[in-house]
Amino acid sequence: MSETKVFVFSGASGAGKSTVLKRIMSERDDLRFSVSATTRAPREGEVDGVHYFFVTRERFQEMIAGGELLEYDEHFGNLYGTPVSQVSCGGRVVLDVEPNGAFNARKANPDAKLIFITPPSMEELERRLRSRGDTPEDQIDSRLERAKWEIAQSVHYDYVVINDDLDHCVKQVADILDYEINR
Ligand code: 5GP
Repeated sequence: MSETKVFVFSGASGAGKSTVLKRIMSERDDLRFSVSATTRAPREGEVDGVHYFFVTRERFQEMIAGGELLEYDEHFGNLYGTPVSQVSCGGRVVLDVEPNGAFNARKANPDAKLIFITPPSMEELERRLRSRGDTPEDQIDSRLERAKWEIAQSVHYDYVVINDDLDHCVKQVADILDYEINR
């Protein structure tokens, strides 16, 4: 079995983390995306087993009880967790999890590298959240509060990358990955 290297990405919603990760994953074939289990409903275009394993709350509880999850957390009313099997099979694995999950993943895997994608400012984050149009107005404040907490957690990450210019951010993340892979 090849050595496992775990890269854990987090970032407040609106920071552009998903876009950055999509670009990174499409540009490289040496990384494997860890598919999480979640109880939230699929969004348009999301494929079961590719973006997430979409499961019922009952199945999720079974996974917890059976020790099938490396870490899990509840986020805005939905459960999310990393299946042990996604990380245990070796190689360079990329996790996209919120900060509690990131810290638990590091406990389980002390060599994991934690990378936080952050927006250039709270004003810009708010602008992006509103312009994306997928966050109802009555949820904007709670998302921003959560974002503030998440950004405060970034001091515990190994790397913090500002997503001001997308190309620049992707390049910085690629450089970090190369450095960590080759050192
Ligand atoms: P979304 O519903 O937008 O796909 O994800 C919501 C949040 O859940 C994001 O911050 C994402 O990083 C986090 N998340 C996704 N999968 C996992 C997981 O397996 N564990 C944890 N702790 N968080 C996750």
